[in-house]
Amino acid sequence: MTTTPMQDLRTKRMLTRDHLLAYSTESESWLAALGRRYTSVEQLQGVLNNLPTLSADVVERFDFKLTPYLAQLMDENDPNCPIRLQYLPSNSEVDYKPYELGDSLAEDHHMPEGTVIVHRYPQRVLFLVQPTCGAYCRYCTRARFVAHAAVHQSEIEASIQYLKAHTEVADVLLSGGDPLLLTNDKLDALLSRIRTECPHVRFLRIGSRLPVQLPTRIDAGLCELLERNNVQMVNIHINHPKEITPLLASRLKMLRKAGVMLGNQVVLLKGVNDDALVLRELFMQCIEMGVRPYYVYSMDLVPGNSHFVVDLARMKELYHQVRGWISGPAVPTFVIDGMAGLGKMPIMPEYIAYDDMLGVVTATNFEGRTSRMDFLAPGFDWNTTNPNCQEDFIPHTGAKT
Ligand SMILES: *Cc1c(COP(=O)(O)O)cnc(C)c1O
Repeated sequence: MTTTPMQDLRTKRMLTRDHLLAYSTESESWLAALGRRYTSVEQLQGVLNNLPTLSADVVERFDFKLTPYLAQLMDENDPNCPIRLQYLPSNSEVDYKPYELGDSLAEDHHMPEGTVIVHRYPQRVLFLVQPTCGAYCRYCTRARFVAHAAVHQSEIEASIQYLKAHTEVADVLLSGGDPLLLTNDKLDALLSRIRTECPHVRFLRIGSRLPVQLPTRIDAGLCELLERNNVQMVNIHINHPKEITPLLASRLKMLRKAGVMLGNQVVLLKGVNDDALVLRELFMQCIEMGVRPYYVYSMDLVPGNSHFVVDLARMKELYHQVRGWISGPAVPTFVIDGMAGLGKMPIMPEYIAYDDMLGVVTATNFEGRTSRMDFLAPGFDWNTTNPNCQEDFIPHTGAKT
C-alpha cells in the first residue's frame, strides 16, 4: 500500500521532494521542525536539482544543517539561488588564503577567563549563550565557535558573575550560535537572572537568525517572556528579499506587539546581495514589516569564505545607490568590523568634501548634482562679499514674497 505525502509526514523525519512540497512548518512545533533538518547535502538529492559535487575537505570543514522551511524557499534548480549560496557548501571554501584567520575579529582576546562574554567596547558586551544554530551559514564569522558541543553551565555562571561585577556594562547582546535555540524556559531563566542580578544593564537585546530560518520559533510563549524581561531589541539577519515570507512577517509582528524593536543585519556577499536593486528591495521590505535596517557588514574574513568578499569601492558604490533612492529610515549603516578587534567602523562614500587650503566645501547629492557650501568651512568669514554658495543658492534679499 502506498502512502500519501501527508501520511508520510507523520512518520518520516526527513522530507523528500514530494513531502517537502506538502509540508507546512506551521503544522508542527518548532522543535519538531528542527528534528527534520537536513544534515548533509547528500540528503538533498532528489529534493533539489543541480547540487554541487563536493570534495571531502569541504564536507568536513563545517557542519551542515538546513531547516525544511529554508529548503522550501530555495530554488529547485538554480545553483545560484541566493538562499542556496548562503547555506550549501562550495568547493571554493577549501581554496584557503594564508591571511584568513579563524578569529579575525580577535574576539577570543576579549573574552574574560572562563566566560562566554566578548567585552570589546567600553559599556556593552556580547554574551555567547549557545553555540549551535538552526541552520549554518557558510560564511559564518564564528565558525570556530559554532557547532561545538555545548556552552557549559559553569561558563554561563561565570559570565553572569562577570556582568554583576562589571557595573559599567549597560548593554548586553545575547548571541552565539543562536540564543533562540534555547527553549523558552531556559531563555526566561537566563534573562530573569540578568534583569534581577544586573540592574545596571539598561539595554538587553538578542541577535538571532532563527526567525528567518524557522519563523515558528516566534511563539506566544517567547513573546510573553521577552516582554516580561523587557528585552528591548531583537536583531535578525535577512540577506535577500527571497528570505521574506508572509509567515515571517506575521511572526515578526507578534514580536513588535510584545514591544520589541526589530533590526536587520545584512552581510554583503558577492553573488548573493551585492546588487543595489536587491538591497533597495530588501530594505523596503524590511521597513514594510516594521524592521529597521540596522547594519550592512562587510563580511568578516575567516578560513573558507574569501570567495564572498565584496571590495571597498563596490561597497561604497552600493551605499551611494541606496541612500536617497529609498526612504531614509530604510537605509542602514554600512560597516567594516576591523581585523584584530578594532570594532565596527562605518564606511560611506564622500558626500561633503572640504578643501582646507581653499576653504571650499562641495556637497554632492545622490544624483551627482553639486553645490558649494563654503559657509560651513571652519573659520569662514561671514563678511565676505562672495559667499560661494552656488547652484541651488538663492540670495536672501530680505523682501517678503
Ligand atoms: C557588534 C558588537 C557589539 C554591538 O555593537 P553595536 O554597534 O552596539 O550594535 C558589541 N560587542 C561586540 C564584540 C560586537 O562585535
